[in-house]
Amino acid sequence: MGDVERLKRRTPLLEYLRQHNWAGRPVGRFEFVGLCPLHKENQPSFYVNARKDVFYCHGCGLGGDLIRFVQLSRGLSFGQSLASLDPEIAPEVDSSAVLEKAAAFYQQQLDYSRDAMGYLQRRGVHDPTLIRELGIGYAPGGTLRRYLTAQGHSFDVLRRLGLINARGADALYQRVVFPLQQGEHIVNLYGRSIGSAFAHRFLPGSKGGLYAWEKVRNCSEVILVEGLFDYAALRQAGFHNVTCSLGTHLNDTQFRQLCEGPRTVYLTFDVDQNQSGQQAAEQLAHRLLTQGISAHRVLLPEGHDPNSFFVEGGDADQFQSLLEAAQP
Ligand SMILES: [Zn+2]
Repeated sequence: MGDVERLKRRTPLLEYLRQHNWAGRPVGRFEFVGLCPLHKENQPSFYVNARKDVFYCHGCGLGGDLIRFVQLSRGLSFGQSLASLDPEIAPEVDSSAVLEKAAAFYQQQLDYSRDAMGYLQRRGVHDPTLIRELGIGYAPGGTLRRYLTAQGHSFDVLRRLGLINARGADALYQRVVFPLQQGEHIVNLYGRSIGSAFAHRFLPGSKGGLYAWEKVRNCSEVILVEGLFDYAALRQAGFHNVTCSLGTHLNDTQFRQLCEGPRTVYLTFDVDQNQSGQQAAEQLAHRLLTQGISAHRVLLPEGHDPNSFFVEGGDADQFQSLLEAAQP
């Protein structure tokens, strides 16, 4: 039996999909159907045949086996997909050490980029101490690969971590970079585009738990925001009991963290036109309540997030009033 067969036998496709939060309902003895993880849809058209160990989507027409699925869903080559599935084929690398170096490199680059500094200014992030504390950096492009390969990290490893693309260019090119830590270790990097590229980008893999959770885990009152620029704005305004979920949908780790002990959570999500931030806040408040955690929804003025609130002249006193007015 070859490596590939052994690997597929060890990790059936259905099991892999379920580990990655795919929910399928059975249709027949070996078949399951659910929403397609490879394209956006509302009606399930993604079929998995557990006996043949293959998938097919009637919506986007994609199909194949486990390796093919990993290739498509993570944008990897065949070899990279194998490596990502099998730690024996690809010896484990100390990914946090490599991410650490990448983050430090980007941090150095920030000082040289007028564009990136200008962007931070526009987003109201100007306190040099805070910028250093959060390890904010910038990816000017073109040099990370050379820098890290010179230190003995292979192209393959950088590629597998998602730091560079197949051509060797920075995945976070022209983005302001925030390292995401879990405990002592950097587990991911978040890049905010300062140009025309889509706004938010993470490296593949886990985002970890709540941002800077260690600092606030013992606080009886915690302000939860959805974005890192919201986080930075509040910290700069003198609020220290802030954490960030990096989006409105909390992963299991993040949710568990909020529920660790009795506390009040101030949900301060964007007040956007389509109401998605407020809907997410409402659902989260409800879920927290079932765990005995008191949740208050902070209502920012229409069209604002915490970042824009401060950028457009809001001050700490005004925000404090919003916290006090927040309703359970
Ligand atoms: Zn599809």
